[in-house]
Amino acid sequence: MALNNRELPFKVPSYSLTGDILSFQQCALQYRYYNGSSLPPSRPVQLWTGEFAHGVLEEAYRHWKINQPAFPWPCNQTPWPPPWTGPPRPSHDIGVLGDLVEARLTARGKNPRSSDARDFAYRRVEAAINMLAPHLFPLITSAERRISGTRPIPGGPNAMRGGGDRFELTGVVDVISSVTATANPANPLVQAIQQVTALVPAPFEVIVDYKAARRPSIQEPKWQQHEWQVQTYAWLCSQVPGAQPVGAGLLIYINELVPSRTDLEELRREIVNNETDMRPSNGSSDYYALHRWKPVAGGQFPTFSQQFLLARSIRVVDVSGSPVQRALSQIEHVVNQIEGSAINENTTGNIPQNWDASGDDRDCVACDFRHFCPNPFHRRNAVGVPISPPIAPG
Ligand code: SF4
Repeated sequence: MALNNRELPFKVPSYSLTGDILSFQQCALQYRYYNGSSLPPSRPVQLWTGEFAHGVLEEAYRHWKINQPAFPWPCNQTPWPPPWTGPPRPSHDIGVLGDLVEARLTARGKNPRSSDARDFAYRRVEAAINMLAPHLFPLITSAERRISGTRPIPGGPNAMRGGGDRFELTGVVDVISSVTATANPANPLVQAIQQVTALVPAPFEVIVDYKAARRPSIQEPKWQQHEWQVQTYAWLCSQVPGAQPVGAGLLIYINELVPSRTDLEELRREIVNNETDMRPSNGSSDYYALHRWKPVAGGQFPTFSQQFLLARSIRVVDVSGSPVQRALSQIEHVVNQIEGSAINENTTGNIPQNWDASGDDRDCVACDFRHFCPNPFHRRNAVGVPISPPIAPG
């Protein structure tokens, strides 16, 4: 006789670091709308661009591991709509890898917002593969590693969860690399990592997280949130018995390799306001390229050195003891906020009053809910207060 599995006497809520924690930090109300039930499930809120970049980089690594074609790889992008009708392309052509990933995303109902967005995504993965992969791929020991661990629920057992006192934290690390004592000292990734890991003896692991985004300003909440995410990954990895120590986290901001006009305008503003940690050195060719550039529609983009583009793209995160403990307490604080918002919504039956509409201009422009959101970015003043009456949800 088949026996049913015994159910747990209480619920253990599961939070994904990207699908829940980062999405909630980005905009609590958008997170709630994308997550349909009254208690938060864990459906990731990710746009096409991010999934496309992650997918192509993963395919590229798998292809490189088996076939090891020399860099640079060609990128003959299939015009829209597919299929490709040009001459045969080699299997490591980035256009071929992109077709595979686009087909998977289309089957799941995910498409680029515009042809411009699609073109930029191709140019960026092409730059990431040809500029970063020759240094990164030889260091990789595992790709897309799933990790999880449990933490005490902040505030103690939760009656709505049947008295459960722990929550599960899950994540998918894009890449785990290994740095050994014999790592190539000329590798720019190794050089960047060694600036913060001088005290960690090799061999150690490095957690790599790709971001299909620009490097945030040091004033933006995202600056800290990305750091906490990688530090929490480091803690999760360290919970595996026999795990190698994690020496550093590496965030790779892919958009920095091919910055858009808006990205460059923001960089110039951040330099003036002293809000970036990575600027071109005064008097360098990159400095003049940026400052002499005129942001006119259809105009030429400045030409930067590869060294500057890589420096803007790579961010090394300290994953030593106390920063990791601080990150964990921040993550627990967010879990507490999500649980609190869910409970308040459950009690009052009101969504917009219990989940903050806190997206920034980039989030709101791409948001499906902007037409009935009570507090979109363009209707807030500098301190986040609405400047016109909210629209009643339809
Ligand atoms: S429009 Fe902006 S503030 Fe409103 S839900 Fe969407 S992202 Fe959040």
